[in-house]
Amino acid sequence: MRGARITGRGRRRQGDGRDAGWRARGGRLSETAASEQWRTILSGDDPGLRWLRATWRRVPGTPRCKVCAAPFQGPARLLARLALHGRSPLNPLMCGMCMRALRRHPGGAEITGSVLFADVRGSTGIAERRPPAEYRRLLQGFYALATAAIERRGGILDKFLGDGVMALYVPLTAGRGHAAQAIDTARDILGDLRRAGGGLADLGVGCGVHTGEMFVGALGTDDRLDFSALGDTVNVAARLGSLAEPGRLLAGLAAWEAAGRGAPEGVVRRQVVSGRDTPLDVVHLELTPDAGSRVPAGAAGPPPAQPTR
Ligand SMILES: [Zn+2]
Repeated sequence: MRGARITGRGRRRQGDGRDAGWRARGGRLSETAASEQWRTILSGDDPGLRWLRATWRRVPGTPRCKVCAAPFQGPARLLARLALHGRSPLNPLMCGMCMRALRRHPGGAEITGSVLFADVRGSTGIAERRPPAEYRRLLQGFYALATAAIERRGGILDKFLGDGVMALYVPLTAGRGHAAQAIDTARDILGDLRRAGGGLADLGVGCGVHTGEMFVGALGTDDRLDFSALGDTVNVAARLGSLAEPGRLLAGLAAWEAAGRGAPEGVVRRQVVSGRDTPLDVVHLELTPDAGSRVPAGAAGPPPAQPTR
């Protein structure tokens, strides 16, 4: 590992003016060494980026850089800019420092993490019944509410999807309980929506969560680079999010078990996930803000239900 290393002391990192989480010492790392460093960072075993995130999160300012948590709003955004952590013009969800780090250290690692998708159901009909500005206001309200819930639970707001959001939960940000954090974020989002005013309670949102191996790191081309994740775990979570009816969470059984919540609260169905050869055991939950979870009324209905527990 001769080309670059992760600095061990976060205090030095913030001021070194080069990368967030990395410090180059010459040429590029070999692919294997870079992957190992990515794994160290994403697993939360390196104190550098963990320290930086913890420091930035002490000051208010949502939204934040999805990698280092530097604030992009509020008074602290000026501090972030002075520390070269202002919003990147190439990716509005990342700061300039993290974007530079991604370009200097492209790659990533396969790690175990969790993914959440929260999608607005029936958005076409909602848009049809409202003026465009009103529809935008509703979506903006949903984005703000979901972003706050994701941040509270240690998730990384990965992207906005037109009428939904995708969030990553890796040990670096969410600890070893990343699956529980992803599931609880879904509860928070659906609960907060039902309590919210301004018409937000009328937005039907369904959530999907899955846990497993995924590739996390730099994705895209040099001028359109992003920090994100891909793989079967991400695809399954996306599919579950699109299948979930309003007010419901569909969680892969692997996610539920990783969350350590004991026997599933809802119904478990063996579900065929489009495009996938192997059916998946999925926990179906209807989430209510005050009463927690309950078995959805339709969960014991007709096929493809095939209870496995
Ligand atoms: Zn950053």
